[in-house]
Amino acid sequence: MKYTWATATHVGHVREQNEDAVAPEIDGTSSGPVVVAVADGMGGAAAGEVASRLALEAAIAGPPADTDTARRISDGNRAVLDAVLEDPSQAGMGTTMTLGVFDVAGTLHLGHVGDSRAYLFRNDELRRLTTDHTYVMELVARGQISIEDASTHPRRNLITRVVGMEDVAVDTDDVALEPGDRVLICSDGLTDMLDDESITEILRRETSVPGAAWALIEAANTAGGVDNTTVAIVAVHP
Ligand code: CA
Repeated sequence: MKYTWATATHVGHVREQNEDAVAPEIDGTSSGPVVVAVADGMGGAAAGEVASRLALEAAIAGPPADTDTARRISDGNRAVLDAVLEDPSQAGMGTTMTLGVFDVAGTLHLGHVGDSRAYLFRNDELRRLTTDHTYVMELVARGQISIEDASTHPRRNLITRVVGMEDVAVDTDDVALEPGDRVLICSDGLTDMLDDESITEILRRETSVPGAAWALIEAANTAGGVDNTTVAIVAVHP
């Protein structure tokens, strides 16, 4: 398989700092392996920015062919915990992490903690590959509210799993990719502003990888841009 990727991040219209982090920083093309990750930091002062950057750097380190995404994210977790030990004033900082290793055989190895998401766009249809680790998605899983109610629930941003906690549990999944697929990894700055239908429409319209990435950012900002928005798109070619 051959992969083409683009990443984009924007502070939005309300926040003063961008606490999201994304890798790779530079758009490119390769036959793999490629490590792609989005982290959305949280914490007082500049701590969110520190947490997302530290965790991301630790998680993407090492050989790109290493597909153990749970260990990668655990390394990110350890980096945040170590930083808090060194500087207790940053206690409470944490980050989401959604990370994919796109291997040479065409398998996406996913690891995921928090409410950043991975989507698969195949045959013009969008499918979620991750389940948000949020209070509202737990209610959905228990059948107490619908997925539509979850997107407008007042406590929809309450996260139940964070990188930077002791013993963080990482969700993992392997996805067999096909030529023509596009994978989107994004922070909640995108998905709070745009529902899945709006994201689908943009991906149908914007066939260029960087074009789609920046169109998604622009649409999130047009819809309010209340949070930092980060997207990574990877297109799969034969
Ligand atoms: Ca966010």
